[in-house]
Amino acid sequence: MDNTQTRSLTLIGAGLAGSLLAILLSQRGWRITVYERRGDPRIKGYESGRSINLALAERGRHALRAAGAEAAVMAQAVMMRGRMVHPLDAPPQLQRYGRDDSEVIWSIHRADLNITLLELAERAGARIHFHRRLHTVDFEARYARFIDDRDDQPHDIHFDSLVGTDGAGSALRAAMNRKSPLGERIEFLDHSYKELEIPPAADGGFRIEGNALHIWPRGRYMCIALPNAGGTFTVTLFLPNEGRPSFASVNTGAEARALFAKDFPDALPLIPHLQQDWEAHPPGLLGTLYLDRWHLGGRAVVLGDAAHAMVPFHGQGMNCAFEDCVALADALDAHPDLAAAYAAFQAGRQQDAAAIQQMALENYLEMRDRVDDANFLLQRQLEQALQARWPTRFVPHYTMVTFLRTPYAIALARSAVQRTILVEATRGRHDLSAIDWTALERIVHERLPVLAGAH
Ligand SMILES: Cc1cc2nc3c(=O)[nH]c(=O)nc-3n(C[C@H](O)[C@H](O)[C@H](O)COP(=O)(O)OP(=O)(O)OC[C@H]3O[C@@H](n4cnc5c(N)ncnc54)[C@H](O)[C@@H]3O)c2cc1C
Repeated sequence: MDNTQTRSLTLIGAGLAGSLLAILLSQRGWRITVYERRGDPRIKGYESGRSINLALAERGRHALRAAGAEAAVMAQAVMMRGRMVHPLDAPPQLQRYGRDDSEVIWSIHRADLNITLLELAERAGARIHFHRRLHTVDFEARYARFIDDRDDQPHDIHFDSLVGTDGAGSALRAAMNRKSPLGERIEFLDHSYKELEIPPAADGGFRIEGNALHIWPRGRYMCIALPNAGGTFTVTLFLPNEGRPSFASVNTGAEARALFAKDFPDALPLIPHLQQDWEAHPPGLLGTLYLDRWHLGGRAVVLGDAAHAMVPFHGQGMNCAFEDCVALADALDAHPDLAAAYAAFQAGRQQDAAAIQQMALENYLEMRDRVDDANFLLQRQLEQALQARWPTRFVPHYTMVTFLRTPYAIALARSAVQRTILVEATRGRHDLSAIDWTALERIVHERLPVLAGAH
């Protein structure tokens, strides 16, 4: 194949996955050119329709480490030790995510992260062209047309192979699908989200606990808040699209204020611009994208959200996309033929992507409905006790997904076994005083082999 001589790839989209992949591949000697629809965020400020900050976990950090980008990113991150759960009628309480401060997640500003990665990609030798929106592709002749949305002018290029890191609405995926159906299916959630902001305190610090992910669970819906390095919090309200309350029933800023006064009274005084922001920001859609085939021979491949967008409730979309970048770079190392490399990449990642998509959907129910429920709390207590006794066998679901790099499909399967153990052992109990630890030891050893990486 021609790629062994040229080793050149054209990336579509310089978002999170595109900029990280550009670093990884440039470092490995590929000639990388990236085309990005938006303007350069270093020149004109960051335009993004969504999620201002993101939770970064071990999978993402591992990929950043592989690219030599971890230190620069972590310098801007805020530690989140656990969930600060705000019940309606009781004071907030911190539920730690892990055993100690070595098991935490990190809040990172999307724009800061993207800019850091873009800088490093250019430094590694990648060429990034902004204001280039992929418009059409001729896969036979290997020509792609981009549009500059400022003047509607077309720009045509020749490519060896295209890599789609252009997100959930991927134009490359659409072009590939037109050429040869990829088996695409999108399931929209019947809930959407809206972002608001808690400004810093007068002294520049946080107005509520800074080292936590705040959650206001309210059954069918919830509000969350993640800290930013400058003392602000990005607040995200997730609501159904229909019914009461919903994005259909809460339209005006005044109606939003009334909803907060009733359901999130401790958050309301923290969000001074609630009414204006409510009216200025349209709700964001949430969905899961399933794709049977991620590549078109050796001519094009998609990854990250372009291949498997998911709902955000496990905070793993970016982390998973970053894992994809390392997996694709490894597959390209192992297979000189591009079609073989893309096929190996898909084979290695597809099952795991499907598993985290499923876990992300399940986690919405846990966050909005279960985190303040007595059964859930007792099960969590037992989970921690089982982990303390048999740390290499009983590894909590959240730990496998967030603090380890256990393949997502294995985490999904083991979590199902563990959930059954937790439910059975706590059924009809209010505390752990009468737990039969000997029986549990046998069950844990029978059903849960030692997990690689657990300690
Ligand atoms: C509300 C919300 C909260 C989230 N929270 C988290 C979290 O806490 N942790 C986490 O890990 N993940 C989170 N995610 C998921 C995360 O945002 C995505 O998984 C991640 O951004 C995927 O990266 P990507 O590079 O594949 O796509 P994107 O980041 O969307 O990047 C795509 C890039 O392609 C460009 N582009 C698009 N179309 C074209 C075109 N035609 N031509 C050229 N360029 C194009 C875009 O401008 C963009 O720069 C969240 C998502 C949402 C919606």
